[in-house]
Amino acid sequence: QRAQAEGCWLALFDPEGARRARERVALEGELRQALGEGGLVLHYQPVLDLRSGQVAGAEALARWPHPSRGAVSPEVFIPLAEERGLIRELDRYVLRRALGEAAALPGWVAVNLSAQSFQEPGLPRFLRESLERSGVRPGELVLEITERTLADPRSAQPVLQRLKELGVRVAVDDFGTGYSSLSYLRSFPLDHLKIDRSFVRGIGRHPEDEAVLRGILSLAGSLGLECVAEGVETAEQAEWLRREGCALAQGYHFARPMPPEHLATLARERG
Ligand code: C2E
Ligand code: MG
Ligand code: MG
Ligand code: MG
Repeated sequence: QRAQAEGCWLALFDPEGARRARERVALEGELRQALGEGGLVLHYQPVLDLRSGQVAGAEALARWPHPSRGAVSPEVFIPLAEERGLIRELDRYVLRRALGEAAALPGWVAVNLSAQSFQEPGLPRFLRESLERSGVRPGELVLEITERTLADPRSAQPVLQRLKELGVRVAVDDFGTGYSSLSYLRSFPLDHLKIDRSFVRGIGRHPEDEAVLRGILSLAGSLGLECVAEGVETAEQAEWLRREGCALAQGYHFARPMPPEHLATLARERG
């Protein structure tokens, strides 16, 4: 309704804006429909153990093969879902689906959780029931949340506590890009830090990025957190990270996100 009202208002002064607004309303309806009909699929990007070269787990990434528009990017439909109140439904959809597919995949499975989903009071119960139904062990599920989600420590702490009691693991995604204070790292029960790819990009080029990376690795090490480097695109970056003691990495250098059956095959071939 609000979007429609905005649309009328815009149409008077800004026909191009009005067209975009109508387009978003249409896309929102189609996303709602896709969620109802199983129209979103998941691709999985393997996360590698840098020492052994084995697949440690995989991150589930939502994909929308739209019947007429072609693939719609998550950079478009995730923000849309967040704005239009659809993200909790989307995250639950992805969780259910990833847990259903997890048995056939190597290692743990990581799922992204928006702030709205993390704060929803029904989350722990939904997780417990979905884990039971799927038979996936809680320790095989990693929930990725961003620093933003942890920005208010007093509301985040009890949720993290309940997740810990369930036995699932928690990763901080895009670490280093938010505006969090580092103090929360001491008290929160966290398992992985996913170092944002903007730092990884600077390896071999910007000594400042390398300094930040070393700092994060050292901090994580002393707090008992495992680091995952994101967006590793070259052999040089992978080698640097391994040398500096980074445990895990993902990125196009190893593999792009792929359908679950491809990842299962890849893991079988590598033994
Ligand atoms: P993210 O969680 O940080 O996921 C990593 C993104 O980096 C993915 O983009 C992945 O395809 C991309 N990527 C992986 N390796 C490389 C690399 O070597 N180089 C570069 N340049 N990029 C790489 P994608 O799939 O487009 O997803 C974008 C974002 O959308 C994700 O960022 C995540 O925040 C969000 N997202 C995706 N699926 C879900 C979901 O089911 N729920 C929620 N709440 N968010 C999701
Ligand atoms: Mg598995
Ligand atoms: Mg992620
Ligand atoms: Mg990330």
